[in-house]
Amino acid sequence: MQEACCRAGREANSVRLLAVSKTHPAETIREAVAAGLTDFGENKVQEARVKIPNAPRQAHWHFIGHLQSNKCRDAVELFEMIHSVDSLGLAQEINKRAAQLGKTMPILLEVNVAGERSKFGYPPEQMLAELKAINALPRLEIHGLMTIPPFTLVAEKSRPYFRQLRELKARAEAILGAPLLHLSMGMSGDFEVAIEEGATLVRIGTALFGERRSLRPATT
Ligand SMILES: *Cc1c(COP(=O)(O)O)cnc(C)c1O
Repeated sequence: MQEACCRAGREANSVRLLAVSKTHPAETIREAVAAGLTDFGENKVQEARVKIPNAPRQAHWHFIGHLQSNKCRDAVELFEMIHSVDSLGLAQEINKRAAQLGKTMPILLEVNVAGERSKFGYPPEQMLAELKAINALPRLEIHGLMTIPPFTLVAEKSRPYFRQLRELKARAEAILGAPLLHLSMGMSGDFEVAIEEGATLVRIGTALFGERRSLRPATT
């Protein structure tokens, strides 16, 4: 990460490492916290509900998976940021639950930059169209954008999608008349390219923890 920042002429502390701990047990989180990691990402509310209460309290939790409206209440309770808001309806539900819990929820808008049918996320123009309505929800704070580019083994192929997300952030800032803090982009295989294109949050699982485990019943 530091080398990529250096190549891009960015400060090393301008990018945060989000350790994606999905499928790994609370014990792994304890080891990671002991090694100095502070920010963790999970993609399933059910798994997080078991894991987070058993994890060290220094850990900060980000939700990075697809969120169903019936899981919003738990998500608002458990997480400090939700990276995957991709409709006004979902934003309204999170806003409602945050109000009930007396919280304000930082969110990122997930954009399906490549327009893949198999993926969640806003089509870019629709995100821009709904931006003001989401920004008007009192219990939400839009902190930026997130994307998952098409799967590839060649990191360089992700670059155009990362660049498009950065350009979309600039357009969103113009609409809102305010800066957005975050670009959540880059995973184990392509985080260096993402950093060169402006990522502020990289979401890394395999490169930190090894292959994901198969999910076992909620005893872990
Ligand atoms: C699993 C996951 C990651 C981490 O992927 P790795 O390739 O293991 O680093 C990042 N982002 C999201 C949204 C994920 O679901």
